Amino acid sequence: MTLDEQNAARIEELKPDVRWAGRAWLAECQRLNIKFRVSEVYRSPERQHSLWASHFVHKGPWRTDLDGYKKKSMHQLRLAADVYPINCTHFDIAQVAEQFGITHPFPTQDPPHYQFDKVAKQTAPVTPHMRLSAEAERKQFVAAIKRSAGKRRSDLIRRYRNQYGTPPLLD
Ligand SMILES: [Zn+2]
Repeated sequence: MTLDEQNAARIEELKPDVRWAGRAWLAECQRLNIKFRVSEVYRSPERQHSLWASHFVHKGPWRTDLDGYKKKSMHQLRLAADVYPINCTHFDIAQVAEQFGITHPFPTQDPPHYQFDKVAKQTAPVTPHMRLSAEAERKQFVAAIKRSAGKRRSDLIRRYRNQYGTPPLLD
């Protein structure tokens, strides 16, 4: 596997609704020849716990107060990626990242860490076909309201309002 393939595979571990930002970030950095290695995205509770615990053993400079169980890491939520620059600086990488809402929240305490919790959530793209069937569904809803009466009618109108807003004038 090439570096690009490895990075692309790791980025797929992100939460599905922010994955688009990770992919766009990698693609834009490739275009600009900014090279880095994505070392870790998803982290299990067990691994987070051992990172937390290792501080007490080694007393190293890097520490976390996230124990993986009571306090979870953004990596456990699939909303973080750790990356290491190859031919650039974190400043270069972060500048591209921010175009997609990816943040670099701890540039001095935890430089490899990039976060996706501010990224605009994006679900599956809406196709023209889906848009058409959604409109057909809404029209059926209106027709059902027109056919109904009494309590059922007011229930349907309330549901319509929750889903689509003010219903059209009903005769
Ligand atoms: Zn991290």
